[in-house]
Amino acid sequence: MKSTGQNPTLSIVIPCYNEQEALPIFYKEITQVLAQMALPYALLFVNDGSNDKTLSILRDFAEKDSHVKYLSFSRNFGKEAAMYAGLSYANGDYVAVMDADMQDPPSLLPDMMEILRGGEYDCVAARRVNRNGEPPIRSWFARQFYKLFATISDADIVDGARDFRLMKRKMADAIVSLKEYNRFSKGIFGWVGFRTCWLPYENVARAAGETKWSFWKLLKYAIDGIINFSEVPLKIASWWGMGFSGFSFLMLVFIVLRRLVFGDPVAGWASTICVIIFVGGIQLLSAGIVGQYIAKVYAEVKNRPRYIISEENLRAEEQTDGPQT
Ligand code: UDP
Ligand code: MG
Repeated sequence: MKSTGQNPTLSIVIPCYNEQEALPIFYKEITQVLAQMALPYALLFVNDGSNDKTLSILRDFAEKDSHVKYLSFSRNFGKEAAMYAGLSYANGDYVAVMDADMQDPPSLLPDMMEILRGGEYDCVAARRVNRNGEPPIRSWFARQFYKLFATISDADIVDGARDFRLMKRKMADAIVSLKEYNRFSKGIFGWVGFRTCWLPYENVARAAGETKWSFWKLLKYAIDGIINFSEVPLKIASWWGMGFSGFSFLMLVFIVLRRLVFGDPVAGWASTICVIIFVGGIQLLSAGIVGQYIAKVYAEVKNRPRYIISEENLRAEEQTDGPQT
């Protein structure tokens, strides 16, 4: 799908991992919405190594509908890799990213398009105003994460922001130009800048299937996000170092003075051990934090492909100009 000059084109990137139940519902709804919007479009599904019938459903769609394009990964590379691949291949004037499970309501697209066409913004992003239908403990952790992230990183991310957004070509290009291996899209979207309009909407529960995120997966994702977009944890390690050095110097002065004044009674074995264990713990923790960053650096320098495609139906002419990596 090439830009036609006057009539702008729209590419929609949809990462899918085991979405056999949700896909037919999503496809039906999005095609209806796009038909009303009356502009040339392509649906670019990225099958992220699903082990259910997702791929055969996509083949089916593609056979019947020339708007449907798909990429299929050789294994599960994660949603970040799927979004990156989709954005690399999407070549519309406008590019949207949305989930296959209907949690990103297709009905918002016409409004988003309207806002972008107004010319004031480069990107419209959906923001959940509530987290209904989500376990409260998960919501609480999510809120704490957003607060912490806002304090210690310079990428601006908003609580409740989803990956669902519609952006102009130039922003999609900017995102693809960030080729890092450890991708944290919420941070990347904020980092590239551009004028973003936040479109609030009520949270919607998944239409079918199950969330792919366990609590631990989310926690790991949050930690990755912080490490990718902030150097504060590294600095904390040196602050601890400085704090303890200062403290131990004062202790030394105190102990020497006490020795001079009171002599040398053998005492304080327990307190010595406590201090040794405590400082040892802090040292290990700091080494661990440094290790986390080194692991990220290692993954970056290996520079492995972000994803491997095992099957796709992009036409040959389109392959020549994508991906823009
Ligand atoms: N997804 C993916 N690869 C993964 C996990 C998820 O492509 O490894 C896709 C999934 O198919 C869905 C979107 O990412 O379209 C969001 O996933 P999910 O609904 O599980 O996340 P949640 O909405 O609960 O945050
Ligand atoms: Mg979902």
